[in-house]
Amino acid sequence: MAAERIDGKAIARMIESELKTQVARFRAEAGRAPGLAVIWVGDNPASAVYIRNKERAAKRVGIESVTYHMPSDTAPQVLMQRIEQLNQDARVDGILIQSPLPAGFDERAFVEAIEPSKDVDGFHAVNAGNLMIGRPCLRACTPKGVIRLLQAADVKMEGRHAVVVGRSTIVGKPQALMLLEQNATVTVCHSRTPDLGAITRQGDILVVAVGRPNLIRGDMIKPGATVIDVGMNRTEAGLCGDVCFEEAEQVAAKLTPVPGGVGPMTIAMLMENTLEAAQRHG
Ligand code: NAP
Repeated sequence: MAAERIDGKAIARMIESELKTQVARFRAEAGRAPGLAVIWVGDNPASAVYIRNKERAAKRVGIESVTYHMPSDTAPQVLMQRIEQLNQDARVDGILIQSPLPAGFDERAFVEAIEPSKDVDGFHAVNAGNLMIGRPCLRACTPKGVIRLLQAADVKMEGRHAVVVGRSTIVGKPQALMLLEQNATVTVCHSRTPDLGAITRQGDILVVAVGRPNLIRGDMIKPGATVIDVGMNRTEAGLCGDVCFEEAEQVAAKLTPVPGGVGPMTIAMLMENTLEAAQRHG
């Protein structure tokens, strides 16, 4: 029997419609809209698509979003000044630096320059550290969205073996922490993991965030598992994930498609984080 598709787009739209109500309440009480500033340096075409999707989502929920588009030859100190100015701006609750920055920019240095209470991507060391020690913080949008997808799809996490493939700072590592917080038993795999399939086959929940089309084949999945495909790869055949969907569909019980799975949830979580930041700023 083919796996049930977890419809991330529909779940994200439901979250957005709740957010719209909460944003309207915030606007009425605070006399202003939550504000999001997106900094885009250069002309990466994939970034253009992501930014447009963020702007559209902000519009749908009533968040005031402004994109600061800077040329790729922008001097690093000019970018730093822009961040400083947005840190000081009381109308701005969230600041996001669209990745990737052009070659030569030290992305981490700019992320660390963002005031942590405005770090709606949840990438600042203060937010990443607070996640690690279980304190309230702005959480990385993609792994936060994955947890919400699992909850919406009624997937039990407590006591289950969750295998995360990928250990990046923006997805894999925070994902492992958030699954632990849900009382899953977590294993993290990466490029030096020998016999990847022997481990992924143990996962009741398998979250894959690598960036390689078809890395996970059907025989690497535990029958009846839930598979969350975070991967977003642009190929000649179009956008695809890291999991071979046709094979996975025959083995898994539940599965996210690409596109229409994790991607829309990431954007919905960005909107949620911006509202959360605005509520804290008042
Ligand atoms: P990343 O920083 O490049 O990290 C990739 C991770 O995969 C690394 O930890 C790497 O291991 C591991 N890896 C590489 N080859 C592997 C292999 N053969 N077997 C096992 N592990 C392997 O990527 P990322 O930023 O986490 O993104 C991962 C994917 O998710 C990309 O396709 C990206 O576009 C997508 N993404 C999607 C969303 C969304 O909203 N849907 C958001 C963010 C990212 P090492 O650490 O050992 O190098």
